[in-house]
Amino acid sequence: MTTAVAAPFRFFALQVARTRRLGPSLVRVTFNGPELRDFRSDGRDQSLSLFLPHPGQNEPAVPLELGWGSPRSSEAESGGGWWQGWRELPDDVRAVMRSYTLRELRADAGGHTTEIDIDFVLHGVTGEGEVSAGAGPASRWAARAAAGDRVLLLGPALPDNRAIRFRPPGDTDLVLLWADETALPAAAAVLETLPAGTRARVWLEVPRSGDIQDLTTGADAEITWFVRDEATDAGADAAPDAGAGPMALDSLRAAELPCTERPYVWIAGEAGCVKQLRRHFVGERGIDRRRVTFVGYWRRGLTEEQLREQG
Ligand SMILES: Cc1cc2nc3c(=O)[nH]c(=O)nc-3n(C[C@H](O)[C@H](O)[C@H](O)COP(=O)(O)OP(=O)(O)OC[C@H]3O[C@@H](n4cnc5c(N)ncnc54)[C@H](O)[C@@H]3O)c2cc1C
Repeated sequence: MTTAVAAPFRFFALQVARTRRLGPSLVRVTFNGPELRDFRSDGRDQSLSLFLPHPGQNEPAVPLELGWGSPRSSEAESGGGWWQGWRELPDDVRAVMRSYTLRELRADAGGHTTEIDIDFVLHGVTGEGEVSAGAGPASRWAARAAAGDRVLLLGPALPDNRAIRFRPPGDTDLVLLWADETALPAAAAVLETLPAGTRARVWLEVPRSGDIQDLTTGADAEITWFVRDEATDAGADAAPDAGAGPMALDSLRAAELPCTERPYVWIAGEAGCVKQLRRHFVGERGIDRRRVTFVGYWRRGLTEEQLREQG
């Protein structure tokens, strides 16, 4: 006897419905498509793998026919047929794979997802939309995204899945969050899901003051924003690379945190900053490392491929 087990992840063929500039450094891209009806997620810091076309391609090249029947489902990056076939495609053909976060989903009355939002950092893109040589392919794609553009998404078909990392232990009495602009979508989604009254201290770093957002939460949250680069007029391009460490570190060291025995810490963003902050929380503050979730979302000077190769 075989037992059918629903696969936690599958591919979704999507198209851009619309875009909205959120500030100098971020654009919100809304996706739709009939396959989305089976997309399920509990949100929080739900991460997704996005496959993007190269300029001049109509759709991303991923050989789904190699390992995906119907429904097209598999464990993400399990070494299945599509994965091997995708890796073997020429560099200028193979779809660009990048990690992003589900910012929000909307569903119909039957609970079927109809639209999802992803917020993209436009690094290497000026306020006027000019793309510099330093911009990565995903940032470049997002800067030019328009209704009808096609992408593939490897995302969740089960609401609670292992691509959600924000998991405070049940006894948590204080939530501490740090995020840079790449993890702002995740932090914003996490804040929306915190139970009313949860005590939270939040440190958020963005390139420009125009990137500061109104965040919605029922938590008892104290939110501190840091603006990294208001001094130069280089736009969102130069801003994220200016300065090596997290701006919040000095302020964190000076901060008196509420007297609590069971904090939970979530840190995400540039990998070097994440490392320094983890050291602060675990080494300097003595918080149990099992209560600290930390994720490097990008590393200064490395593309996502290079970051993956480093493991
Ligand atoms: C789990 C997870 C969730 C993520 N969620 C989001 C999200 O919701 N929104 C989002 O915008 N990003 C998110 N990221 C980060 C995003 O995947 C990276 O920024 C990615 O490198 C962007 O791809 P790219 O093609 O634009 O640049 P790449 O080709 O990967 O990199 C090209 C160059 O740009 C640099 N670079 C990459 N990102 C930045 C940046 N933000 N600022 C300055 N320089 C940069 C690299 O170091 C490299 O030198 C997430 C990452 C992870 C792992």
